[in-house]
Amino acid sequence: MPIYEYACPSCKMKFELLRPLSQASEGVSCPHCHNNAKRVLSIFSSFTTDESGLTTHIAGNNPCASCNALSCDSCNL
Ligand SMILES: [Zn+2]
Repeated sequence: MPIYEYACPSCKMKFELLRPLSQASEGVSCPHCHNNAKRVLSIFSSFTTDESGLTTHIAGNNPCASCNALSCDSCNL
């Protein structure tokens, strides 16, 4: 099971939970104050998360398809 990091907006507590992937974006209650805590993305992640919780690889939105870089001299992007 993957481990996810959560942060509580009420008391600023951060904690980690082992959860099935299918429950990764579901709300959890803070173990300290029992308010709703939100998942925070790992610093290792190269993914962005939109408001619906879907992950999109940054390269998927890359207009510079020929060289697979976000910007480069050859494509002038
Ligand atoms: Zn809390």
